[in-house]
This record gives sequence, structure tokens and C-alpha cells, in this order.
Amino acid sequence: MRILVVEDEPVLCEQLVQAIGAAGHTVEFARDGVQGHYLGEVEDFDAVVLDLGLPKLDGLTVLRRWRAAGRRMPVLILTARGAWQEKVVGMDAGADDYLTKPFHLEELLARLRALLRRLTEHASAQWQCGPIWLDTRQARALVDGRPLLLTSHEYKLLALLMQRKGEVLSRTELSEHLYAYDSERDSNTIEVFVARLRKKLPPGSIETVRGLGYRLADAGSPSS
Ligand code: CA
Repeated sequence: MRILVVEDEPVLCEQLVQAIGAAGHTVEFARDGVQGHYLGEVEDFDAVVLDLGLPKLDGLTVLRRWRAAGRRMPVLILTARGAWQEKVVGMDAGADDYLTKPFHLEELLARLRALLRRLTEHASAQWQCGPIWLDTRQARALVDGRPLLLTSHEYKLLALLMQRKGEVLSRTELSEHLYAYDSERDSNTIEVFVARLRKKLPPGSIETVRGLGYRLADAGSPSS
């Protein structure tokens, strides 16, 4: 993982860089808010350790600017002892966790591990069924690594089938899901969507279970 440390106290900065590096991460650091903000804006990090009391640009402003610019990496803020308001304001500004100085490096590493773990849990927003991948955060599908061009109905249909892979879904169920707020629900059009989706997927991906509905087949079990 790639971690950014923004801390102006030279000794603490050095300790953080060493400890996080020793934990197996790649570490970059900045000693003031302007450089820290720049690095976090133009480069990708899996997490940031951000001191709030920084020269040139304070940590809170750095954090607010990142969030306003859509930068979503987890940020752990370091706050001064006794300044409990800083924690509240920092969390409101988009921090994911905080640590009050002075702290044990072990605790910082544990917090960092927790943040990175949450990051990997987010990654499970990717669903797989054989060669088919669905990235539910970006609403896109891939087959063997190649992007699939799907209409929004086809995407929703595939997402539902993948979410409940192995289960048989009736036409009624599928149409309810697809047209939740649509007055013109028609289970016959589901057949059309299924047929179109089938053509875009590897052969045998969608099984028809006669009289019941459709099911997403597991990889390598072609059926018609
Ligand atoms: Ca400081």
C-alpha cells in the first residue's frame, strides 16, 4: 500500500516514515500543508496520516480541499492533546479516524491497518461469476477483462442475476426489480432484455429454467 505522511515535526515525521515503511508500505512524506496538499491531490495514496497543525496551510484546510476535489482516500488525522474540538471538526471535514498526540507508533499502525482493511472491504463491491466481473461502484461489467457495453436495464438485470447467482429468478421478480418505479411493468420485455444480455455474455451464462425463470450459471457449465 502507498501511504502519505504529512507532519512538520522532523523527529516524529521520521519515526512515522520508518514505522510505516517497516510495516511493508511505500511511504511518501511532506513537511508542510502546501506540499502535502499537492501530493495528495496529484498522486494516489491508499491512506494518509495528516497532522492538523502544519505550516503554510493547516491540515484541516488540506483535508477540506481534498474532499472538495473528490479525493476519497482514508485520512487519519493527528491532533494536539486536549484539543477535542479539533477531532470533531476534523471528522466533520472528512477524516476517517484520529489520534491524539503523543501516541504510540503501535497504535498508529493498528489504526492504519483498520483503515486499509475497510478499503479492501470496499473492494468487495466487485462481484465475479466465472469470466464475468461487475464493479458495482462504477456500474460497469467486464468479461475476461474486456468492458461490456450494456444499457442501464441490461446492467441492472446482470447485477441482480450476479447478486443472486445460482438462484432462479422469475420474470415477475426481474421486472419488479427493473421497473420498481415504472407504471408500465411488463414481464414480456424481460425476455427481450435477457435475450440481448445473453448475446453479450459468454454462451451458457444465463440458463432458462422452464416455467420458473432465469439463473446465472457458474463458470464452465454451458447450457441452453
Ligand atoms: Ca504540527
